[in-house]
Amino acid sequence: MKTIIEPFKIKCVEPIRMSNREERRKHLEAAHFNLFTLQSRHVIIDLLTDSGTSAMSAEQWSGIMRGDESYAGSPSFFTFEKKVRDIFGFKHVIPTHQGRAAERILFSVAVKPGMVIPNNNHFDTTRANIEFQQAEARDLVIAEGSVPDLDHPFKGNMDLALLEATIAEHGREQIPMVMLTITNNSGGGQPVSMENIREVSRICRQNQIPFFLDACRFAENAYFIKLREEGYAEKTPLEIAREMFSHADGCTMSAKKDALVNIGGFLSLNDDKLAEEARNLLILTEGFPTYGGLAGRDLEAIAQGLSEVLHEDYLEYRLASIRYLGEHLNELGVPTVKPPGGHAIFIDARSFLKHIPREQFPGQALCCALYEEGGIRAVEIGSVMFGRFDPKIGQELPAPMDLVRLAIPRRVYTQSHIDYVIEIFADLVQGRRKIRGLAFTYQAPFLRHFTARFEEV
Ligand SMILES: *Cc1c(COP(=O)(O)O)cnc(C)c1O
Repeated sequence: MKTIIEPFKIKCVEPIRMSNREERRKHLEAAHFNLFTLQSRHVIIDLLTDSGTSAMSAEQWSGIMRGDESYAGSPSFFTFEKKVRDIFGFKHVIPTHQGRAAERILFSVAVKPGMVIPNNNHFDTTRANIEFQQAEARDLVIAEGSVPDLDHPFKGNMDLALLEATIAEHGREQIPMVMLTITNNSGGGQPVSMENIREVSRICRQNQIPFFLDACRFAENAYFIKLREEGYAEKTPLEIAREMFSHADGCTMSAKKDALVNIGGFLSLNDDKLAEEARNLLILTEGFPTYGGLAGRDLEAIAQGLSEVLHEDYLEYRLASIRYLGEHLNELGVPTVKPPGGHAIFIDARSFLKHIPREQFPGQALCCALYEEGGIRAVEIGSVMFGRFDPKIGQELPAPMDLVRLAIPRRVYTQSHIDYVIEIFADLVQGRRKIRGLAFTYQAPFLRHFTARFEEV
């Protein structure tokens, strides 16, 4: 088989500032061993997130110039609305400044205190917006979805028996909607099968409960279905995407992921009454319904991005490049969540750095080592982010896993950038026993990972 090449040429470049280990050591100490407080110009390869970090195409930049900034009824809105309807198929299209605004508006109009919203795994903003309405965000992913080194083609699937039990327990009056996150970001970017989407939809219709997709990575999910699910090999990603959405009543979307733009999102749904209430709230907090917190030029770039993200060459390259990184890390003996997800590779830092106890944050230690060794910025998803200090026993309570996520921005890095990342890991495998654990010197009461300070143990 031939190399799967990046299906684009580079027209505009951003220089990377190279640095040496001594400079990086200084930056790391100045940042108190927290990579969120680094300046991005001191990073060589930035794998902190795939959100809002995509490179836009020449056609998207042309759309930026075409954008019409009329307050009401801009042609850019109608281009955007037409494209969203064409792919997603829902009646109402409501633009928002990013995904969490779509979530906040939807839950404000549909969710009451004490209600329960099932999902495979709620993303953190989705959970927070549900809990803000004093409702419960319940995760019902299949058991396989929580076992890191277990291989399964659709680890993002929902457990249907648990869904039926949840409906039986609470009744449909207490369940304003069921959601499925495609792909399942919090579960490692793992896809959901068409069969699972169809079955969740069937159960929802039987019980007259609305069904919403959290569609942020819908194109990556569609391509996984094409590659892995029987009966879809000959279908186009657009056909598969349309079929996925045909089973749902609406969706929330962060355009910062699979719309290949740097900002934007939308809420799309069929229910007229809910849409009217959502638009009223939109006017209050985001903007007039034909721009909703975005500029006309953003709407043009999203419309174009939604076309490009469904190109087969792009999706083949996208999933192959993530798989390439995962397979090479496994060859080096670096343990990862299996199989590789659609947007990121997750490393099991606890088993990679066995000499660092949980209380000394092996995930954070690996992130710091990656930066010092090679200028690579990753993010800890483990005990720093999800653990907490228990004042009663005077000890840290670790999270279930200590993962490090390498999220790959879309169309930004080439294979040689990824080869460089693999080479840095090869060095870390050799010298891993020298990597030191960390201890907090400061932590905030909420979302402590953003502002925490550490020292080496
Ligand atoms: C990013 C994301 C969101 C929130 O979108 P923002 O644009 O960051 O507000 C919601 N759900 C999932 C699955 C996401 O990945």
